[in-house]
Amino acid sequence: MSTVTTAAHLMNTYFKWPIRLVKGQGNRVWDDKGREYLDATSGIGVNALGHVPPTVAKRLHEQVDTLWHTSNLVEHPLQEQLAEKLAAISGLDRAFFCNSGAEANEAAIKLARRYMQKVKGEERFEIITFTQSFHGRTLATLTATGQDKVKDGFLPLPEGFIHLPYNDVQAVQEAISSKTCAVMLELVQGEGGVYPAEEAWVKELRKLCDAHGALLIIDEIQTGMGRTGEWFSYQHYGIKPDIISVAKALGSGFPVGGILATEEVAQAFAPGTHGTTFGGNPLAMAAGIATVETLLAEQAPAKVKGLHQQFMVHLQAIQQAHPDKVKAIRGKGLLIGLETTQAAADLITYIREKHGILLLVAGPQVVRLLPSYITTEAEIEQIAAALKDALQNV
Ligand SMILES: *Cc1c(COP(=O)(O)O)cnc(C)c1O
Repeated sequence: MSTVTTAAHLMNTYFKWPIRLVKGQGNRVWDDKGREYLDATSGIGVNALGHVPPTVAKRLHEQVDTLWHTSNLVEHPLQEQLAEKLAAISGLDRAFFCNSGAEANEAAIKLARRYMQKVKGEERFEIITFTQSFHGRTLATLTATGQDKVKDGFLPLPEGFIHLPYNDVQAVQEAISSKTCAVMLELVQGEGGVYPAEEAWVKELRKLCDAHGALLIIDEIQTGMGRTGEWFSYQHYGIKPDIISVAKALGSGFPVGGILATEEVAQAFAPGTHGTTFGGNPLAMAAGIATVETLLAEQAPAKVKGLHQQFMVHLQAIQQAHPDKVKAIRGKGLLIGLETTQAAADLITYIREKHGILLLVAGPQVVRLLPSYITTEAEIEQIAAALKDALQNV
């Protein structure tokens, strides 16, 4: 049988890199020609523990031989276990599980709307989000997203979303009202260019939501599970949200998404109000439980903080050597953006081809580093050397 295939029968939805990965282990991936790459993307924030982490692989193997799927009409001990673990690290009370980030944000939006309309008995439905945000590709979540490119050709969009400039106190003060159902945001905008939220602004958002009876939803899909050096990014800011969404790193590569909410808000989802066939499936929960247990055992947030410091030493040295080419270094933990005067896509292509390192962009002029939490000092040096070479030679 021939192994040569083409993409003729795939929808052409991605700008693809011309490589075909067939194997991964730790921070390394290999293509079909046997070339090895260092993955500093974590598969876009997913493989936080590296590829095929042994603890998660073992748990999945055991689950594969035990039970794959049941309906959500029966009780789910594994969902209960994962919910309990996530509640403990987040300080929130109840979880709902689904299969992706966009689905998690859909659930967050639905929960917020229903809480207002059914629990509080208020007809408010407006959701405030921010420019340059990214919340997903379903109709509601692309509407929530503050970037026009994801909306092109998909009209009409659902009603009730408005977008405000990020880190702007006055804009929110002016827009928030008795019609506001929720304010929804990432605390480090990932896809939009690696922009962290300012502390005073975030504290003010919490106060404004409380004063106007609106909910605060934090999209932790990219920033959650230790990525920023805390379990969840809001823990940097001394605030507590009403709802958070999680996905990417939660299953180490097995698709898992979910939302967590306070007891009060979670009451809005009564039986029959929201659901999913696959969400919370035993395989996904096994991956999630093993991932959280491993992150806890590795003290992931503290580890990520340490790795951030190591990266910053190297990146700041590069900026000092090339102040004309490096405009800014931003981010938290292992979500770091390097803004340059060059085309970020050209830089990451050069680094992939010449140095065998996979990196991402976040907008046209930002190189995004999203490495795993098991990145070593030697790998950090390797990534920094490649960036330096690219800035000098592209
Ligand atoms: C990736 C991402 C999403 C969408 O998640 P999918 O699993 O691709 O649907 C939503 N919000 C943020 C912040 C993300 O990074």
